Amino acid sequence: MNVPFSYAAKREALRIAGKHVTTDDVIEVRNPYDGSLVGTVPAARPEHVREAFGKAKAFKPKLSRFERQQILQKAAELLRGRRASFARIISAESGLCWKDAIYESTRAYDVWSFAAQLAVKDDGESYACDISPNGKARRIHTLRTPLLGVISAITPFNHPLNMVSHKLAPAIATNNRVVLKPTELTPLTALALADVLYEAGLPPEMLSVVTGNPSTMGDAMITDPDADLVTFTGSVRVGKHIARTAGYKRIVLELGGNDPLIVMEDADLDKAAELAVQGATKNSGQRCTAVKRILVVEKIADEFSKCVLEKARKLKCGDPADPETDVGTVINERSAVLFENRVNDAVTKGAELLHGNDRRGALYAPTVVDRVPYDCELVHEETFGPVIPMIRCPNDIAEVIRISNSTAYGLSSGVCTNRLDYITRFINELEVGTVNVWEVPGYRTEMSPFGGIKDSGQGYKEGVVEAMKGFTNVRTYSLPWQ
Ligand code: NAD
Repeated sequence: MNVPFSYAAKREALRIAGKHVTTDDVIEVRNPYDGSLVGTVPAARPEHVREAFGKAKAFKPKLSRFERQQILQKAAELLRGRRASFARIISAESGLCWKDAIYESTRAYDVWSFAAQLAVKDDGESYACDISPNGKARRIHTLRTPLLGVISAITPFNHPLNMVSHKLAPAIATNNRVVLKPTELTPLTALALADVLYEAGLPPEMLSVVTGNPSTMGDAMITDPDADLVTFTGSVRVGKHIARTAGYKRIVLELGGNDPLIVMEDADLDKAAELAVQGATKNSGQRCTAVKRILVVEKIADEFSKCVLEKARKLKCGDPADPETDVGTVINERSAVLFENRVNDAVTKGAELLHGNDRRGALYAPTVVDRVPYDCELVHEETFGPVIPMIRCPNDIAEVIRISNSTAYGLSSGVCTNRLDYITRFINELEVGTVNVWEVPGYRTEMSPFGGIKDSGQGYKEGVVEAMKGFTNVRTYSLPWQ
């Protein structure tokens, strides 16, 4: 059964301070499943980016906390009401299945409504000064102010709505102006979101959306003189390019991951296998925090592998528009071919293919591979697709931790054990931003701090609370009263 899925191809425009601007050159957005045209977006040039930053910088936002709260909550409600139409755009332009696209819309509601609730929270602090022999009868106070310049936001394809929401909602909650460059692969969702925000009452000068080819206008997003801060979510390669190019600007980098799910000998294997399969295949395995490596100790590996295989076989991979589908396409055929090649390479190096590795265009079936050597490309690099690779580890927690820490990434992790001594060691010794016990690495709320270390990020966190802090300057002032 197909959901009603008529997405008429749309010729889209840039939104520069709310104004629709078109260009002669356009980028086609095609449905990865059937190649149909979903729409076109302008191929902005550096001068469009400049215009967007200039207009944003010239505008001084004056929204009260109450006004910001109202806009953010209205946006949340509009998104909730249009959940299905957003899911249709997400699915059509990314190939994500209907279930994933609907889930993403509900996550975005949380982001906007949490930002609304936090916009009215007073974030000032107060410090007594009579706290040492040198103390005085004064008080030091802090308040958070928006950035003096504009936020440059650059987002990836894998969560076309939620990643953009995680940049825009905290920015609006803190009275900042933003120029957004969504990915050229899934830009239509971001443009639809911008329209929701204008409709919710956002002054249009506070948000511009420029779409285009990163090779022509990417650097303009990073080097614009009016950009105070570049917030980027995407690959390590581009993140490091931004770090090299941005110069004296604040940068927030949320980069790739290679997250382990660790299964120890005392684990409930059925529960662990469920986490492994869901964690590796939801969103077609295209989450920065997807399970990319399953580290299972030898003692229980045979039995665990059977449980994983049984669950993976039940997943339905196919037409993203079919509400029964569990795994839609990956972003494009090139990526699917890469995953296929990496699995083949792992097999030549001794891995055992148990299920999948079937590919039709951008459709790549959930693939179970056991006995994967821990240093082959499939698991050493970020494989951004629905592969479920099991690495058998010695029955020794020190070895498990060593193998887990052996990649360049350090985003998140999931741990399946009830032993407190193991849990304590994982929390202290895994080189990651998050340790989730009995959950997938991707578990979070949209409010909680989230972000990685090593090549996955510089330790700054996202999540609405932390992003709001990151998008503000702390001003300190002191008064001569206690
Ligand atoms: P990508 O790095 O290829 O692209 C991300 C964005 O950067 C896009 O908008 C792209 O157009 C832009 N870009 C590319 N080259 C640029 C340049 N030279 N200058 C300026 N902008 C440029 O990433 P992707 O393939 O879209 O997304 C997948 C990656 O994102 C994965 O590695 C995934 O792990 C990561 N990701 C990380 C998080 C996180 O929170 N840590 C979340 C989601 C995705």
